[in-house]
Amino acid sequence: MDLSRFPRRRYTQGPTPLEFLPHFTKALRATCPDGSGPNVWIKRDDMLGLTPGGNKTRKLEFLAADALAHGADTLITCGAPQSNHCRATLSAAIKEGMKCRFVIEERVPNSYKVDASGNNFLFRLLGVEAITVVPAGTNMLEAMQKVASDLAAVGRKGYIVPGGGSNAIGGLGYVACAQELQQQFFEQGVQIDKIVVGSGSSGTHGGLLAGFLGNHINIPLIGIGVSRDPVDQNPLVHKEAQAVADLLGLNMTISPEAVLSFGDWWRPKYSVPNQAMVEAVQMLARTEAILLDPVYTGKIMAGLIGLARQAYFGKDENVLFIHTGGATSLHAYEAEVLGLKDLTV
Ligand SMILES: *Cc1c(COP(=O)(O)O)cnc(C)c1O
Repeated sequence: MDLSRFPRRRYTQGPTPLEFLPHFTKALRATCPDGSGPNVWIKRDDMLGLTPGGNKTRKLEFLAADALAHGADTLITCGAPQSNHCRATLSAAIKEGMKCRFVIEERVPNSYKVDASGNNFLFRLLGVEAITVVPAGTNMLEAMQKVASDLAAVGRKGYIVPGGGSNAIGGLGYVACAQELQQQFFEQGVQIDKIVVGSGSSGTHGGLLAGFLGNHINIPLIGIGVSRDPVDQNPLVHKEAQAVADLLGLNMTISPEAVLSFGDWWRPKYSVPNQAMVEAVQMLARTEAILLDPVYTGKIMAGLIGLARQAYFGKDENVLFIHTGGATSLHAYEAEVLGLKDLTV
């Protein structure tokens, strides 16, 4: 598909690595019934550009380009207190000589601490211009529009980047990833049977799905919800994939059945640690020296591990894990990921 028609900035040189994980595969198999499990591969989207990179970088390549095309001088976005997306948006703004403002939603009451570690620390170090903290359930779009009108009142121009960068334009970043993967599978001679990807604001899952369908890549995409069970998550992903397909002019109606996801692993709550996440973070760190994060990829990998133990994957299937980044927030959860705190779930 021709993505060259869409304005894009580049924050990463070349493709991110696609690698086999030999030690992790072996360790996982040892814990699966009768010792049989999949071969686990990884797509290192945690190595994308922007202090440090992750899936938001791909979306921001298209979103920041659109902001510049609209003559914006400030990016406005929203997220949770440890938002990777806010930090990546701030980084993109800096690279483009723009300012950046956030609206932070306290999904867990009193969870925003100005002097917290992890991404919060980077908000300050990178120099965010202003942060508005609002309680859970606030209409985030309206809150961001208020920031935009405050800027307009002093002659500035804000550009609203939706939560997680997940709209049709942001989703193009994961269409680009689908095309990058297709090329890597071919060049590296790798046949992947299934792909496991995180599913949150859904630009990653939905963008990949649109990219796969549009490029006739028939590898099943398995979403792992980070905040919702399939009944709530799948319609979001479907809507995002359809919006991306429409923006691309694919003339394609995506069937709701094309969306597959699993819930459960996000419990007890979005961003709140659980035992399976701790096991996954420790296992990948100690077998491959690759860092996951407590909020997203730790739970997503816990989903892959859990599905493998349920024999969901065929014996010796090649399963690709999309590493969407986020390790910065490890520092805000050090005791939990080291197993030094009792977790309820
Ligand atoms: C935002 C995020 C996700 C979820 O991606 P969506 O596109 O919002 O569904 C997964 N992993 C990490 C590390 C993230 O920051």
